[in-house]
Amino acid sequence: MKKKITFLGTGTSQGVPMIGCHCEVCTSEDPRDSRLRTSLMIEADGVRVVIDAGPDFRGQMLHHKIEDINAILLTHEHRDHTGGLDEVRSINYFKRHDMPIYCTARTAEAMRRDYAYAFGENRYPGAPVLSLIEIDALEHFSVGELKFTPVYGSHSFLPVVGYRFGNTAYLTDFKSITDEEVEKLKGVRTLIINALRHTPHPSHFSLNEAIAIAERVAPERVYFTHCCHEIGLYTKVEPTLPEGMHLAYDGLTIEI
Ligand SMILES: [Zn+2]
Ligand SMILES: [Zn+2]
Ligand SMILES: [Zn+2]
Repeated sequence: MKKKITFLGTGTSQGVPMIGCHCEVCTSEDPRDSRLRTSLMIEADGVRVVIDAGPDFRGQMLHHKIEDINAILLTHEHRDHTGGLDEVRSINYFKRHDMPIYCTARTAEAMRRDYAYAFGENRYPGAPVLSLIEIDALEHFSVGELKFTPVYGSHSFLPVVGYRFGNTAYLTDFKSITDEEVEKLKGVRTLIINALRHTPHPSHFSLNEAIAIAERVAPERVYFTHCCHEIGLYTKVEPTLPEGMHLAYDGLTIEI
């Protein structure tokens, strides 16, 4: 069975366009310049997994006509990656299952705090049914036939986790990664990695920093995600990228 990935969102925390911005990217009519909050969907035979569920999660599910998913994997606790978790209530209701949420113990703790009404003794009736599964001690875990390997990095002082699945790896909100973790990426055919903008940023890879990591991993193809408006117009930036490297855009689907 063929597996495919769909970029549900490829934008940084505020999304693109930014509220109130009149730059050429935020006012572009090219749909590839509009970026919802970063999220990736992976589909294989009978299994569908989404990595991160930010504030655009509901719209992303509706736009792609997705009625059910088997699990959500979280990369870290920032709201642009977790702010849509309440929306799984519709899946809880219609599909009659809780939503497995794979994440680190640190992120799980943040979810119990951020969504306090969904956990514990005072759980509110009708709250989302989220089953937190902590991955810290796991070298690998599986959702259906999809096997995931956590790949750890730093997002400034915050830990962040990316995921390798088969010949594909997905890293977002990384600012640094150790040699040991880069080793886990060796042999991937497709690498998806965050590239915020051209100039350096304290907590996200710039485009050049992302290109440098990609060159070390040396996959066949690379897609950059979690971009802000300063990345520039898709049509201007795409031709300047090294061979095999591309800007991802919302709705892009590729077979893996
Ligand atoms: Zn982010
Ligand atoms: Zn702008
Ligand atoms: Zn973040």
